[in-house]
Amino acid sequence: MILRVLATALLCLSSSTFVLAQQTIRETLAVDATDAPRNILHATVTIPVSSGAQTIVYPKWMPGNHRPTGPIQNLTGLHFEASGQELPWQRDLVDMWAFHLQVPAGVKELKVTLDTITYNGKNSLASSKVLDLLWNQVILYPQGTATDSVTVTASVRLPQGWKFGTALTEAQGSAQGATEFQPVTLTKLVDSPLIAGQYYRLIPLTPEGEKPQHVIDMVGESEDAMAIPAQDLANYKKLVAEAYALFGARHYEKYHFLWTLSDQTAHHGLEHHESSDNATGEDVFHDPNAHNLEADLLPHEYTHSWNGKHRRPAGLATANYQEPMKGDLLWVYEGMTDYWGAILAARVGLRSPDQFRENLAATAAMLDRRVGRTWRPLQDTATSVQILYASGGQWVNWRRSVDYYPEGYLIWLDVDTQIRRLSNGQKSLNDFCRSFYGGQSGPPTVVTYKFEDVVSGLNQVVAHEWAKFLRDRLDSKSPHAPLGGIENGGWKLIYNDQKNTTVEAQEKTANTLDMSFSIGAIATKDGDLRDVIPGTPAFAAGLAPGMKIIGVNGRKWSRDVMRAALKAAMNSKEPIAILAENGDYYNTYNVDYHGGEKYPHLVRNEGQTDLLGEIIKPLTK
Ligand SMILES: [Zn+2]
Repeated sequence: MILRVLATALLCLSSSTFVLAQQTIRETLAVDATDAPRNILHATVTIPVSSGAQTIVYPKWMPGNHRPTGPIQNLTGLHFEASGQELPWQRDLVDMWAFHLQVPAGVKELKVTLDTITYNGKNSLASSKVLDLLWNQVILYPQGTATDSVTVTASVRLPQGWKFGTALTEAQGSAQGATEFQPVTLTKLVDSPLIAGQYYRLIPLTPEGEKPQHVIDMVGESEDAMAIPAQDLANYKKLVAEAYALFGARHYEKYHFLWTLSDQTAHHGLEHHESSDNATGEDVFHDPNAHNLEADLLPHEYTHSWNGKHRRPAGLATANYQEPMKGDLLWVYEGMTDYWGAILAARVGLRSPDQFRENLAATAAMLDRRVGRTWRPLQDTATSVQILYASGGQWVNWRRSVDYYPEGYLIWLDVDTQIRRLSNGQKSLNDFCRSFYGGQSGPPTVVTYKFEDVVSGLNQVVAHEWAKFLRDRLDSKSPHAPLGGIENGGWKLIYNDQKNTTVEAQEKTANTLDMSFSIGAIATKDGDLRDVIPGTPAFAAGLAPGMKIIGVNGRKWSRDVMRAALKAAMNSKEPIAILAENGDYYNTYNVDYHGGEKYPHLVRNEGQTDLLGEIIKPLTK
């Protein structure tokens, strides 16, 4: 009996899903963003329904985030209405993103009104001058529906005088005061965020008339913040050409680099097929440190149009935003994108060759201290993407973090140098990109892949035991990072007392002192210990993240006092005495370290070909 009921229920579910997936559902979405400066968006959604029990859902699993980040906690003011009558709703007892309601007989359309709060301190999505509108935050759709089968006609009302950028196409004859867009699938709508602001610049990157068009849509807190230097503009134009030379095809009809420059809103990058949502500080064109650190942001997000959007791991290509995602191949999706982000930044001149190598040295050295690799292989960091962002930065070297980004970078550098060696310089990872991500140019499409497809793609470039090569690195519990790409690239990772320019840029922007490579700790300018690395002298002395350094060798803490103590200890047998506060208690921690300041760098191994130098050479003239 129970089995029979279950079987029937399953049958109903699968058949209704099937029917829904075949029908096109036409929704409208009207966003009133006139309250954006105080970080609240108002929206009205109409959803066609049939009578009876219905479940309406709010997007949960977000593409690009690879995890359930649909901000349900920020959804407020929710009302369902049918034929002018308010309908009661109940949230699902288990799924917080689902709302159940009874639709009366004869009703064919629901009108839903809602507000979304976009305030999150420094991670807010709007300020008095700018807005980053993510459509998934203001829309609902029927449960069990494929997002490709929902068509949405969206419109937005912006604060007076604000202008916007988006990959969406404006409809003819928009209503007074609002901008309406041509109907698109829900998939495409969510894939096409809109940025808006009082100050806006449209910067073409391809000559007028040339297809596809590439533009930067820029909004910022001031005109001054958006003053892109001529050299940067030339480099971003070159980025478009270099990416085309690398992949050999484009899977979009136009491309918008959306770029928000603000110190008051979230700094992030999110990839889409025909646009990327990039947000940096206001000083990115004026402060060389910020410029250096952000140099690979646009190249990274742009690479995703091919690696992540067009070609996508099967476990991340879901039918709708309620279906869970599987992150096991993120070392390809994010790892190789991290690699190309850094390489393209160097190929187009956004980073000098020296800045590229210093950045790589900092990445490699950081990963070589990730002692968590002895319990957690890299593969597990990708598999557990759902939970990694919830952890703080404390003990990060023991926990491990989203290491599939930077360590994926090292692995793909290892692959690239290996292909070049095996083929005597005839082939490279460029060839893999052309065959795996290229193909026919045209509008956005998704082609999924599995681990085996990556292996077979590599074998088509040059035959090798690629499955073993990759698995050895992905499943390794070695205490050391995979540095084969640097070594085969003709370089060596060394440490000396000269500041690494990437580490220094991070220190300056985050107001910290990075002693990761000396005593094994990072402290803020006020002495707060951000992190301590297990296995280092600071760890052996008993220090821990959360403590606050008060004094060093009897003198009040400052970064200069600490650096002087590191230097003095080189000619002393005495440990460095660190007075630290741990909650209500004070203690002196004796750090037995005499190696002075240490920072990572790459130096040439003259006996080998400089493959790193070859890799960062531009493909275009
Ligand atoms: Zn990415």
